[in-house]
Amino acid sequence: MKQLPADTVRLLSSSQVITSVVNVVKELMENSLDAGASSVDVKLENSGLDRIEVRDNGHGIKGEDTPVMAAAHFTSKICSTEDLEMLETYGFRGEALGSICSVAEVTVVTKTEEDDISTQYTLNFSGEIVSQKPSHFGQGTTVSVLKLFKNIPVRRQYYSSTKKCKEELKKIQDLLTAYAIIKPELRLTLIHNKVVVWQKATVADHRSALLATLGASTVANLLPCHHQQEQPELLLDGFFPKPGADYSSTSNSNPDKTFIFVNSRPVHQKDIMKLLRQHYAAQYPDDPARNRYPTAMLKITVPPSSVDVNLTPDKTQVLLHNKEAVLTAVEALLVSLYGYRADGDPPAEKQ
Ligand code: ADP
Ligand code: MG
Repeated sequence: MKQLPADTVRLLSSSQVITSVVNVVKELMENSLDAGASSVDVKLENSGLDRIEVRDNGHGIKGEDTPVMAAAHFTSKICSTEDLEMLETYGFRGEALGSICSVAEVTVVTKTEEDDISTQYTLNFSGEIVSQKPSHFGQGTTVSVLKLFKNIPVRRQYYSSTKKCKEELKKIQDLLTAYAIIKPELRLTLIHNKVVVWQKATVADHRSALLATLGASTVANLLPCHHQQEQPELLLDGFFPKPGADYSSTSNSNPDKTFIFVNSRPVHQKDIMKLLRQHYAAQYPDDPARNRYPTAMLKITVPPSSVDVNLTPDKTQVLLHNKEAVLTAVEALLVSLYGYRADGDPPAEKQ
């Protein structure tokens, strides 16, 4: 038996962290949001395989931090495990940028408020700076990722098919839509092969963000719902299809328009999704296509100490400590809206 060379170990672990094109966009996007950006441009070439560029107007990376920005487990966001209890940022593991360096060619241009001009850094396989030069960008950070998976031919090949390219592009748009909804103040653009394929301006609230992303006819069929409680502390804000709303305009064959967030993080929570579908579908007992998903947004806010986001590498699933209480509250909200209870009992009379 022999120990694997360090470069091989690095490639193996990086390719587990960075699994897809959409995954790179998500990590870069979250870094931009963590940097307090109010404007983010995502540019792709060849569905992201040739180039993914994410430009933000956030606080930038301080000169003293640039040498370690892509070093393994270097992060400016937490200092210890205790900080995870109060986590307010999307990132915390310090592994995305470094992992991307191991599977692509990466340059970072950054400028803080204190810097006179921006600097462009070229990083190597290990995330080290190999060259730097002055550049002319404004405040913020631009990360360019070229030739993704160039050293993992089987994966590059996999994402190169026309079908996969289309799927990834759709997933990227869905992901940006989720951030656009949860961050109304954020200005976002998606450019593919130099063409603006999607964009969203700064708006005031979630309803306006839904209007901007899903359109007026869909939003006309949605109703805002709110629930707040103390024990355990929990806040729910949702937009659900109005009772009896037109089925075809408020449902979809896949979950791409059912947006669930936990503490502003877009998540896939199967049990919550099941509740939404169950209560929504119960209104249409005769509809043969009951396996559909409602167009909806549910924003769950809990104390950071009651949620574990370090469950999956892509952070799309979270562990809620008070899951039963959250499910009960979501169900109560849906019962009050649709008057249906999953246990089959008739809804209690409203006083
Ligand atoms: P994490 O987000 O978990 O800290 P990353 O590898 O994604 O780890 O990023 C490493 C560090 O680089 C971050 O902690 C941050 O300090 C810096 N950084 C990366 N992207 C940006 C950005 N767009 N704006 C400002 N700082 C950034
Ligand atoms: Mg990050």
